[in-house]
Amino acid sequence: MLTFPEAVKHIIRLLNEAGYEAYAVGGCVRDALLDKQPNDWDLTTSALPEEIKHVFRHERVIETGIKHGTVTVLFGGEGYEITTYRVDGKYTDHRRPDSVQFVSNLKEDLMRRDFTVNAMAAHPEEGIVDLFGGKDDLENGVIRAVGNAEKRFTEDALRILRAVRFASTYDFTIDDETAQAALKLAPTLENVSEERIFVEIKKLLCGKGAERVLISYPEILFTVLPELRPMHNLAQVNPHHAYDVWTHTVKTIQAAPADPILRLTMLFHDAGKPQKKTTDEKGIDHFIGHPLASRDIAEKALLRLKSDRATIQTVTKLVLEHDLRVPEKRINIRRQISRIGKDLFPLLIDVIRADFMGQNPAMLPEKLKYTDALLREYACAIKENACLTLADMKITGRDLMELGAKGKLIGQVLEKLLDDVICEKVENETAALKSRAKMRIASFTANA
Ligand code: ATP
Ligand code: MG
Repeated sequence: MLTFPEAVKHIIRLLNEAGYEAYAVGGCVRDALLDKQPNDWDLTTSALPEEIKHVFRHERVIETGIKHGTVTVLFGGEGYEITTYRVDGKYTDHRRPDSVQFVSNLKEDLMRRDFTVNAMAAHPEEGIVDLFGGKDDLENGVIRAVGNAEKRFTEDALRILRAVRFASTYDFTIDDETAQAALKLAPTLENVSEERIFVEIKKLLCGKGAERVLISYPEILFTVLPELRPMHNLAQVNPHHAYDVWTHTVKTIQAAPADPILRLTMLFHDAGKPQKKTTDEKGIDHFIGHPLASRDIAEKALLRLKSDRATIQTVTKLVLEHDLRVPEKRINIRRQISRIGKDLFPLLIDVIRADFMGQNPAMLPEKLKYTDALLREYACAIKENACLTLADMKITGRDLMELGAKGKLIGQVLEKLLDDVICEKVENETAALKSRAKMRIASFTANA
């Protein structure tokens, strides 16, 4: 039996006492049955929106989507969406119903839901209402459309992506008929907004089953990200590699920490390889300059998906730098931390390590020594509070102006002094920096 939060039991009790049916429904029932903490508890009821408002007239109520029958009631700072039993009207654009229609029975409301595991309702006394075998599918780890899969995907193409997303996040398989319909109707995803597609892609990438899903159903992702398709089955004959470019990419996605930024980076990191591939006289494949090409592909794709600026900036920078190789010496590494940025550097280490994990397994232990060295040096620099940015320096532009520097020269000298500190040519200490600054200003001026 499910454990309901007190607020949910209370809401259901109030609606029942007023003569209406009410159940927890959808994702919360699915997650609670999986012993996972639901994101939110949604409720479904026979009460009409005005009737819901009347039942909760003493509570704080927000009219979230009154046209679609949804009212949010606030209890203890949490919002609970209560939606009137409804069926979706006609879909003319594979996207959203033209209208919704309120109905009086739970069954019809459950039938409009996308997958059997999402189409269960639960009541504190009555238990689970499972009309489509959702519980069995949950136990067996299967994503199956409610009713006719082709019809359901034709109504709303977003469900195609939701199918692979749920298969990834819960590490489930997709029922055959549902998978066939998803593949057949994938082209209709063009009717879905880029924002909603992007949300699903990020969730898909962060799932436990991302590797399996992206190997089994690559075409669904390629429909929304066609620039990735050339990676599929692209051979890379090279001692570093054991897999084709797409298989490698997918393995690196799974190997990276489950964070959207890192997993998007892995998705795009080799996207430029198809256009950069050359084969030498020994038959070895090379991909010279691919990080820059990958960066450009990532930027274009993320802009199209209406990604936020911060994500675009971080992902493109990590993609560009993913092949960074630096001598394993303190000074060399600290220069790179300074160039790439203190915050970004640990993410780059994650990216490089994930990349190694998708390469030739025989070489992995040796390669991991490199990322371990980067990590050790990074930890050491942070612990020592090492000077790595202009802001860390014990000298400022004002000091340089007092020493006679003007305009662009100030920045140039500061950069040079920072590098001197990182290279241990001078202590990060004001008097020492000032005397070195005089020398630098003199030599810049002499060379000007
Ligand atoms: P999560 O919140 O974990 O992403 P969820 O299943 O709760 O997953 P929501 O988008 O919150 O997803 O939707 C709540 C419920 O509404 C779903 O469980 C499902 O029953 C129904 N639903 C959501 N989107 C669709 C859709 N596109 N087609 C049909 N039913 C849907
Ligand atoms: Mg939800």
